[in-house]
Amino acid sequence: MSDIEIPVPERFVSDAYLEVLASQDSSQRCIFSDFSLQNMQEIAAKGYPNEICGLLVGTVSAEGWQVAEVREVENINQERAADRFQLDPAGYQAIDSELRRSGQEIIGVFHSHPDCPAKPSPTDLTSAWEGFVYPIVSVVQGQVAEVHCWVVTDEVSMGGKFQKLPHYT
Ligand SMILES: [Zn+2]
Repeated sequence: MSDIEIPVPERFVSDAYLEVLASQDSSQRCIFSDFSLQNMQEIAAKGYPNEICGLLVGTVSAEGWQVAEVREVENINQERAADRFQLDPAGYQAIDSELRRSGQEIIGVFHSHPDCPAKPSPTDLTSAWEGFVYPIVSVVQGQVAEVHCWVVTDEVSMGGKFQKLPHYT
Protein backbone atom coordinates (compact mmCIF):
# COMPACT_ATOMS: atom_id res chain seq x y z
CA MET A 1 0.00 0.00 0.00
CA SER A 2 2.81 2.46 0.85
CA ASP A 3 4.80 2.09 -2.40
CA ILE A 4 2.16 3.76 -4.57
CA GLU A 5 3.17 7.26 -5.57
CA ILE A 6 0.46 9.74 -4.61
CA PRO A 7 -0.04 12.73 -6.92
CA VAL A 8 -0.08 16.02 -5.00
CA PRO A 9 -2.15 18.60 -6.88
CA GLU A 10 -0.98 22.18 -6.38
CA ARG A 11 -4.00 23.12 -4.27
CA PHE A 12 -3.00 20.53 -1.65
CA VAL A 13 0.09 22.55 -0.79
CA SER A 14 -1.65 25.93 -0.96
CA ASP A 15 -2.14 28.16 2.09
CA ALA A 16 -5.87 27.42 2.07
CA TYR A 17 -5.16 23.71 2.56
CA LEU A 18 -2.42 24.23 5.13
CA GLU A 19 -4.75 26.46 7.12
CA VAL A 20 -7.20 23.67 7.88
CA LEU A 21 -4.51 21.69 9.75
CA ALA A 22 -3.67 22.05 13.44
CA SER A 23 0.05 22.18 14.24
CA GLN A 24 0.01 19.11 16.49
CA ASP A 25 -1.30 15.59 16.09
CA SER A 26 -4.03 14.37 18.42
CA SER A 27 -3.16 12.39 21.56
CA GLN A 28 -6.25 10.21 21.01
CA ARG A 29 -6.43 7.35 18.55
CA CYS A 30 -8.72 5.44 16.28
CA ILE A 31 -8.87 1.65 16.53
CA PHE A 32 -10.45 -0.26 13.65
CA SER A 33 -11.58 -3.86 13.73
CA ASP A 34 -9.58 -5.70 11.01
CA PHE A 35 -12.73 -6.16 9.05
CA SER A 36 -13.81 -2.52 9.18
CA LEU A 37 -10.49 -1.12 7.94
CA GLN A 38 -10.41 -3.66 5.13
CA ASN A 39 -14.00 -2.97 4.21
CA MET A 40 -13.50 0.82 4.16
CA GLN A 41 -10.55 0.41 1.78
CA GLU A 42 -12.52 -1.92 -0.50
CA ILE A 43 -15.44 0.52 -0.69
CA ALA A 44 -13.03 3.36 -1.57
CA ALA A 45 -11.22 1.33 -4.26
CA LYS A 46 -14.47 0.07 -5.77
CA GLY A 47 -15.86 3.61 -6.07
CA TYR A 48 -12.82 4.94 -7.94
CA PRO A 49 -12.61 7.30 -9.84
CA ASN A 50 -15.47 8.82 -7.83
CA GLU A 51 -15.35 10.03 -4.28
CA ILE A 52 -17.23 7.66 -1.99
CA CYS A 53 -18.43 8.27 1.55
CA GLY A 54 -19.86 6.38 4.47
CA LEU A 55 -20.31 6.14 8.19
CA LEU A 56 -18.26 4.55 10.95
CA VAL A 57 -20.19 2.60 13.56
CA GLY A 58 -18.71 1.88 16.97
CA THR A 59 -18.04 3.46 20.35
CA VAL A 60 -16.13 6.43 21.74
CA SER A 61 -14.07 6.46 24.95
CA ALA A 62 -11.52 8.77 26.55
CA GLU A 63 -8.75 7.18 24.44
CA GLY A 64 -10.57 7.75 21.21
CA TRP A 65 -12.73 5.99 18.66
CA GLN A 66 -13.31 2.22 18.27
CA VAL A 67 -14.67 1.34 14.86
CA ALA A 68 -16.64 -1.92 14.74
CA GLU A 69 -17.94 -1.60 11.19
CA VAL A 70 -18.31 0.78 8.29
CA ARG A 71 -21.35 1.45 6.12
CA GLU A 72 -21.27 2.97 2.69
CA VAL A 73 -23.77 5.79 2.20
CA GLU A 74 -24.63 7.22 -1.18
CA ASN A 75 -22.69 10.30 -2.28
CA ILE A 76 -25.52 12.54 -3.46
CA ASN A 77 -23.18 15.14 -4.94
CA GLN A 78 -23.42 13.91 -8.52
CA GLU A 79 -22.22 17.10 -10.18
CA ARG A 80 -18.81 16.85 -8.61
CA ALA A 81 -18.67 13.19 -7.68
CA ALA A 82 -14.95 13.10 -8.50
CA ASP A 83 -13.93 15.55 -5.80
CA ARG A 84 -16.83 16.31 -3.47
CA PHE A 85 -19.05 14.28 -1.27
CA GLN A 86 -22.35 14.84 0.38
CA LEU A 87 -23.80 12.05 2.50
CA ASP A 88 -27.34 11.07 1.68
CA PRO A 89 -29.24 12.29 4.79
CA ALA A 90 -31.81 9.47 4.43
CA GLY A 91 -28.97 6.93 4.59
CA TYR A 92 -27.67 8.59 7.72
CA GLN A 93 -31.12 8.57 9.36
CA ALA A 94 -31.71 4.91 8.54
CA ILE A 95 -28.42 3.80 10.13
CA ASP A 96 -28.92 6.10 13.11
CA SER A 97 -32.39 4.64 13.83
CA GLU A 98 -31.17 1.09 13.36
CA LEU A 99 -28.44 1.63 15.96
CA ARG A 100 -30.78 2.94 18.65
CA ARG A 101 -30.37 0.88 21.85
CA SER A 102 -27.66 -1.25 20.19
CA GLY A 103 -24.87 0.17 22.36
CA GLN A 104 -23.20 1.40 19.19
CA GLU A 105 -23.49 4.69 17.43
CA ILE A 106 -22.32 6.65 14.43
CA ILE A 107 -18.85 7.88 15.41
CA GLY A 108 -17.49 9.31 12.19
CA VAL A 109 -17.59 9.80 8.45
CA PHE A 110 -15.12 8.41 5.95
CA HIS A 111 -14.58 9.44 2.35
CA SER A 112 -12.08 8.88 -0.42
CA HIS A 113 -9.73 11.21 -2.27
CA PRO A 114 -9.29 9.86 -5.79
CA ASP A 115 -5.72 10.56 -7.05
CA CYS A 116 -5.05 12.95 -4.15
CA PRO A 117 -3.42 12.69 -0.73
CA ALA A 118 -5.46 11.57 2.30
CA LYS A 119 -5.35 15.10 3.60
CA PRO A 120 -8.45 17.17 4.40
CA SER A 121 -9.55 20.08 2.22
CA PRO A 122 -11.07 23.41 3.26
CA THR A 123 -14.43 21.98 2.07
CA ASP A 124 -13.97 18.97 4.35
CA LEU A 125 -13.47 21.34 7.26
CA THR A 126 -16.70 23.25 6.64
CA SER A 127 -18.73 20.05 7.01
CA ALA A 128 -16.79 18.54 9.95
CA TRP A 129 -18.29 18.04 13.39
CA GLU A 130 -16.42 18.05 16.66
CA GLY A 131 -16.52 14.58 18.24
CA PHE A 132 -16.55 12.67 14.95
CA VAL A 133 -13.52 10.95 13.45
CA TYR A 134 -12.85 11.49 9.73
CA PRO A 135 -10.77 8.86 7.96
CA ILE A 136 -9.72 9.77 4.41
CA VAL A 137 -8.69 7.04 1.98
CA SER A 138 -6.38 8.06 -0.85
CA VAL A 139 -7.07 5.95 -3.95
CA VAL A 140 -4.56 6.22 -6.79
CA GLN A 141 -5.34 4.54 -10.12
CA GLY A 142 -7.94 2.40 -8.35
CA GLN A 143 -5.60 1.23 -5.57
CA VAL A 144 -5.57 2.34 -1.95
CA ALA A 145 -2.39 4.35 -1.38
CA GLU A 146 -2.82 5.66 2.18
CA VAL A 147 -5.34 6.16 4.97
CA HIS A 148 -5.20 8.96 7.51
CA CYS A 149 -7.67 9.78 10.26
CA TRP A 150 -8.58 13.30 11.33
CA VAL A 151 -10.56 14.98 14.08
CA VAL A 152 -11.45 18.62 14.61
CA THR A 153 -9.99 20.35 17.65
CA ASP A 154 -13.03 22.51 18.36
CA GLU A 155 -16.31 23.55 16.78
CA VAL A 156 -15.34 24.70 13.31
CA SER A 157 -17.23 27.99 13.88
CA MET A 158 -14.91 28.52 16.89
CA GLY A 159 -11.76 28.12 14.81
CA GLY A 160 -11.48 24.34 14.99
CA LYS A 161 -8.93 22.73 12.67
CA PHE A 162 -8.13 19.17 11.62
CA GLN A 163 -5.72 17.22 13.77
CA LYS A 164 -4.19 13.98 12.54
CA LEU A 165 -4.99 10.96 14.65
CA PRO A 166 -2.99 7.70 14.69
CA HIS A 167 -4.99 4.64 13.70
CA TYR A 168 -4.48 0.94 14.40
CA THR A 169 -6.27 -2.34 13.95
ZN1 LIG B 1 -12.14 15.39 1.27
